[in-house]
Amino acid sequence: MKYIIVGAVAGGASTAARLRRLDEQAEIIIFEKGEHISFANCGLPYYIGDVIKDRNKLFVQTATSFNKRFNIDVRVTTLVTSINRERKTVTAVKQTTGEIYEETYDKLILSPGAEPARPPLPGISSEGIFTLRNVQDTDYIKSYVLQNHIKKAVVIGGGFIGLEMAENLHELGLQVTIIELGSQILAPVDFPIAAIVQQHIRSRGVNLQLNTAVTGFEKNGPQIDVTLNNGEVMTADVVILSIGVRPDTRLAVQAELKTGTARGIWVNEYLQTSDPDIYAVGDAIEFKNPITGQSMNTYLAGPANKQARICANNVVLGNIQKYQGSINTAIVKVFEMTVGTAGTASKHLKVANISHIVSNTQNGSHAGYYPDSKQMNIQIAFSPSDGRLLSAQVAGYDGVDKRLDVLSSFIQQNKTIYDLIDYEHAYAPPYSSAKDPVNMAGFVAENILLNRLKVFYWNELEDFTPEDILLDVRRINEYEAGKIPGAINIPLDELRSRIGEIPTGKNIYIYCEAGLRGYLAQRILKQSGYRHVSNLSGGYNLWKNCTAEHSEALTFKKQHPSFDRV
Ligand code: FAD
Repeated sequence: MKYIIVGAVAGGASTAARLRRLDEQAEIIIFEKGEHISFANCGLPYYIGDVIKDRNKLFVQTATSFNKRFNIDVRVTTLVTSINRERKTVTAVKQTTGEIYEETYDKLILSPGAEPARPPLPGISSEGIFTLRNVQDTDYIKSYVLQNHIKKAVVIGGGFIGLEMAENLHELGLQVTIIELGSQILAPVDFPIAAIVQQHIRSRGVNLQLNTAVTGFEKNGPQIDVTLNNGEVMTADVVILSIGVRPDTRLAVQAELKTGTARGIWVNEYLQTSDPDIYAVGDAIEFKNPITGQSMNTYLAGPANKQARICANNVVLGNIQKYQGSINTAIVKVFEMTVGTAGTASKHLKVANISHIVSNTQNGSHAGYYPDSKQMNIQIAFSPSDGRLLSAQVAGYDGVDKRLDVLSSFIQQNKTIYDLIDYEHAYAPPYSSAKDPVNMAGFVAENILLNRLKVFYWNELEDFTPEDILLDVRRINEYEAGKIPGAINIPLDELRSRIGEIPTGKNIYIYCEAGLRGYLAQRILKQSGYRHVSNLSGGYNLWKNCTAEHSEALTFKKQHPSFDRV
């Protein structure tokens, strides 16, 4: 058997190694147009930021070590330009010599990845404007920043890589602006969770401009003028374009393989393309999302590696293993915070017409009496009919990854919010509480599903009428330190004795700091004959983050008047 693989990083290198483990006799050739194979894409921003100091650490394998370990013919700096499906050949160009040749295959595996978007804006090819995809890009950015004594960076795009780059450039001492076209950062998460992270980014002195488009660039001496759609011109020493990627389907299109509605290479459940002798994995493919049933792209290293193993099994052993799809579990460090998501965000469930209930909870990362417990926000979405968990998003400072992984695993296994209640975790005070934040998310969701708790959301307050009562049940000092306009204050511990102050027959909207005291107040009122009582999901804290992010009053200019924009 002769296997050819195109692309030698996450999906391609993993497929090649697995093919060798399954078939010692096969001839395996892997083509890579770049200089490096199997490098750590995910570590690139941290090398630029000097968190990873040794460049060699970025290389999981080299062409030589890969060949030695797996007896694989690795051909770097060699671009595969076309596939001839009838003759079962690929055409390759050795880029250093210009040599063009053909290679035959029995089975071909495509893992060409994705390409960074680079819209045709005026001046986009100016010196100092970079995208980040590979080691070469990394070297260019790092040396440009160091050699030119760069002071100001504009990062365009507030996605995962954009935020990592913003943090790393900021940690290098640069003044950083993030320009984001959307109304929030991190498109895969819902606004309330993004708002928490946005507040954190602003607090670290990064200029975050939302709802803003870049319309062009112009070189201005050593600097670059970045023109925005609001008329503002921002001057930067370096620009990082991080506005997303799209599947690299060039070879697939040339070979007339089927592509799908999400513009990725179409594959069946065995990761086989429309040609039975060609398989594909990684960022370049599209696959049915297990929650929405719709075709989608996944640009993540974990799924690419897992697909690689399945693909190699199917190539060698004959379609024995089905790929189940990805729920897009992703995580990112943003300064001191961590934020992650798994499953389908509420906003995307709405688009897919999937009915769901959202619940926000806030709990300590570990026992409050043990030092350094930090608050963590969890937002889940679940089915109103059977409680099936559809998504989870977590933001906080400690233990976020652990909770996200647990929740992701529940979502993947089609578990419900009742399973969150039963979830048994390892507990000692430095690690968690007797009731873990995951259990708490389950308890609250169960209360909602069983109608013991009725919630309202931060953005529903504007629908209230003067007849409605907004009741703050926090302590008086908390209320005085900041409240939702129009709220009256009756602290929870005084509620039973002062219940007569609350008129019956009205809609009563309760809130506390995080949601728990509001729930207790709601139970008291409900059982005292008040019929229309609901509690603010996520409490005052979440409301404050969300409204701050909506408010002009909290723009960057006010918080950091000394920031020099020009
Ligand atoms: P790639 O790993 O991109 O490999 C494709 C390779 O194919 C490329 O090297 C390319 O040069 C080569 N190629 C393409 N066409 C040809 C051709 N015609 N001939 C020869 N060679 C070709 N994911 C996470 O899950 N977590 C993270 O923290 C994370 N961080 C990231 C940070 C950065 C800066 C980047 C760029 C990506 C990050 N990712 C992360 C995404 C992750 O790296 C990708 O999802 C993953 O690498 C996809 O694997 P792949 O094999 O499909 O593509």
